[in-house]
Amino acid sequence: MNEKINSLQSKNSVLDAMVVGAGISGLYLLHRLRQIGFSCQVIEAGADLGGTWYWNRYPGARCDTHSLEYSYSFCPQLQQEWEWSERYPSQVEILRYLNRVADQFDLRSGICFNTRLVSADFQPANNQWHLKLDPDQQLSCRFLLMATGCLSSPNMPDIEGLKTFKGPIYHTARWPQSQVDFSGQRVGVIGNGSSGLQIIPELAKQVKQLVVFQRTAQYAVPSGNRPLDPQEVAQIKADYPGFRARNRQQSSGQLSNVETCQQSALTVSPAQRQQLYQASWQQGGFVFYDTFNDLMTNQQSNQTAAEFIRTKIGQIVNDPQRAKLLSPQHVMGCKRPALENGYFETFNRPNVDLVDISANPIQCITTSGIRLRRDQEYLLETIVMATGFDAMTGALMKIDICGLNGLSLKQKWSTGPHNYLGLSVNGFPNLFTITGPGSPSVLTNMVVAIEQHVEWISDCLQYMAQQGYDRIEASAEAEEEWVQHVNRLADDTLYTSCNSWYLGANIPGKPRVFMPLVGFPPYAEKCRQVVEQNYQGFILS
Ligand code: NAP
Repeated sequence: MNEKINSLQSKNSVLDAMVVGAGISGLYLLHRLRQIGFSCQVIEAGADLGGTWYWNRYPGARCDTHSLEYSYSFCPQLQQEWEWSERYPSQVEILRYLNRVADQFDLRSGICFNTRLVSADFQPANNQWHLKLDPDQQLSCRFLLMATGCLSSPNMPDIEGLKTFKGPIYHTARWPQSQVDFSGQRVGVIGNGSSGLQIIPELAKQVKQLVVFQRTAQYAVPSGNRPLDPQEVAQIKADYPGFRARNRQQSSGQLSNVETCQQSALTVSPAQRQQLYQASWQQGGFVFYDTFNDLMTNQQSNQTAAEFIRTKIGQIVNDPQRAKLLSPQHVMGCKRPALENGYFETFNRPNVDLVDISANPIQCITTSGIRLRRDQEYLLETIVMATGFDAMTGALMKIDICGLNGLSLKQKWSTGPHNYLGLSVNGFPNLFTITGPGSPSVLTNMVVAIEQHVEWISDCLQYMAQQGYDRIEASAEAEEEWVQHVNRLADDTLYTSCNSWYLGANIPGKPRVFMPLVGFPPYAEKCRQVVEQNYQGFILS
């Protein structure tokens, strides 16, 4: 029995808002909704707050957005007082920061931990959502706000024999709370996306032998992580609002301190191109992927960047055979590119093996290791799955959400996510998704995207309260147009040219649809205009 929910429910027989998830979105929603006088409760499946940063606590876990940008901007005092130590914040530091935010705004009192939303049924008679929770409890709310995260539902591949393995199997996105000691062990890692790239160098330092099972080589550039320079911090803090405003003008909502390049990779001479790539490479970070303005729209330009990275890999990795295997061949950036800290160098270590499972796939997991289709078996004591997520829709699809006329969200989205602005779904009144598919979300600095959504939603709820509305829903026409708009923008890029989680292609059976929206500033402007035109595209009643 959850006493916190009970006491709230008895004070207000129907909650104004239920927020699902106590990550960066859920925490800010709770704060904003309290400010506008809403009764609000957050439920969180984890035992503590932090969302992504609570679950992904594997060795090496670190954000790849700059610290001074990956933080809330809503409180001038908070952003002035908080001190980040490095250019890119570690998981530990982000979690410390989120706990400080929770303490400062008394947020813990509004969160029930270890509590899941199992199902939500919309009741049109009274415009309320009827919720069933685990542990078993039922309650009602007027607005249901899904702060469930874009990358929160881990992808555990269905490999034969998974349950028979004698040793532990860890997923990077469900890492144990206590430290794991790998010393003296033979450890296998499956997956080399952003999580794999971070954990592999750390594990290599600890283990006796590390075996990396690679299906697709990954593009990565050095992060250039370093302690923050106090002068640089002081300069940003001297005009933090201006800095934030410049962030919001960037397509990716970040890196305003870097001049965005305005030329094509094909308009400069080969020598100049190399020089510019080299300068970006040395600077470190995502600026490399923005060295030219057409790397994600022109395949020929893209190839020049891809080739530069492959050459670098060839220079870093001593064994030419290995370097070749580590060199990606797909379009750079169509799978989310990564930043690395010593990843490629790790493959010069004598205790690290690289196994190409694209040529010889995993057949099964045995009691004592991993067996490949062509007979080889690797003996292991521990397996680490860095196999990613059922992105963008996975967490929502785990919940039985039922809207008007008995239609479930699973049915509605059976051919891919359909919504308006990534915020609202026709047929599902008073439901909002924070950084949902169809919004810039994962193509953006997540905190910028989250703040924009939380503020838009809370302003909308306040407007509804002031105007006496108690129901809001995206219109079918607005939704249809929006879905087409999201697809059109994606079709003008190279994002759709390979199998990626952006497309749902990493999950067997998931519809292949490009889920995020390209470009933050025009999106934010569209959301502003929608409000200006009395919530154009929404039905309010
Ligand atoms: P990911 O990018 O989806 O990578 C998953 C890896 O597992 C890929 O190498 C994939 O190979 C492999 N894999 C999946 N299923 C497999 C199977 N059945 N057999 C063999 N290999 C399999 O997942 P992630 O690394 O967790 O990253 C997901 C996203 O989270 C990132 O793109 C990023 O947006 C975010 N993230 C960010 C940070 C950061 O800020 N620094 C850190 C971690 C994660 P294929 O490529 O062949 O499918």
